[in-house]
Amino acid sequence: MFCPACNNQLQKISVTTKEGGRFEVDHCGYCGGTWFDPYEINRIPFHEVVTLANLTVQTRKIYAKRKVQLCPNDHCPLDPFKGDAVPKDVRLLWCKRCLGIWATQKDLWEFKKHQEETVSAYDVASKFFPALSVAFIPVLTFLFLLATTFTTIFSVQQQKEARIFAESRISHLVTQTIQPDTVSITFITQVPLISSIVYGQSSLEMTEAVISEVSTQTHAVILSNLKENTDYLFRLTLEDNNGKTYTTDLKTFSTR
Ligand SMILES: [Zn+2]
Ligand SMILES: [Zn+2]
Repeated sequence: MFCPACNNQLQKISVTTKEGGRFEVDHCGYCGGTWFDPYEINRIPFHEVVTLANLTVQTRKIYAKRKVQLCPNDHCPLDPFKGDAVPKDVRLLWCKRCLGIWATQKDLWEFKKHQEETVSAYDVASKFFPALSVAFIPVLTFLFLLATTFTTIFSVQQQKEARIFAESRISHLVTQTIQPDTVSITFITQVPLISSIVYGQSSLEMTEAVISEVSTQTHAVILSNLKENTDYLFRLTLEDNNGKTYTTDLKTFSTR
């Protein structure tokens, strides 16, 4: 068999597939081109293309390029091979009779590199996604913690502002023990507001009671059935017309 490009004798070279199979290609050690029987070009791994390139000993020698390149099998004219798998800048020739493919060293290199990259893109995706999530989980955790911390700081800030707001709206707060187990709490707000109270012996067990169901400036509540001679904690909550609530700091009253 003679090289379609430079008419030198082609050599049979054995190559190994990725799966360990072997087949022979017809390689021109003079111009570096390779002839593939049908489908063999898809089986040759990139590292064997490199091996073939290393076997090409006289690549720099100028050779007379044939105008019409002929199939080394049956001497039919070779045509450009078009296909989705072939990049635009890669020129492969094929014989429409025997379906063999001719590739120059450069085109074979480019074609196989492209093929390898396309295939390995899938491999890389499936292999690296677990690795990526390993890398991303700490980052996500960090971002989550950051967001949570920020939210906590923000809500603490908001509560503080709400308390300051509530304190500033309340005046004339009076707690009075009417009976040993009954206390009255009265206060005035600058503007009409709805109000409620939570109270208890500890902040963990608080009872809630409505003071003013409708917006008003004067607020009064009587808390009965309290324990005698006991200190109580309480908070007042104010609600404006928009439903926004403001809760005061913890305050105390006692039944004595
Ligand atoms: Zn050649
Ligand atoms: Zn042919």
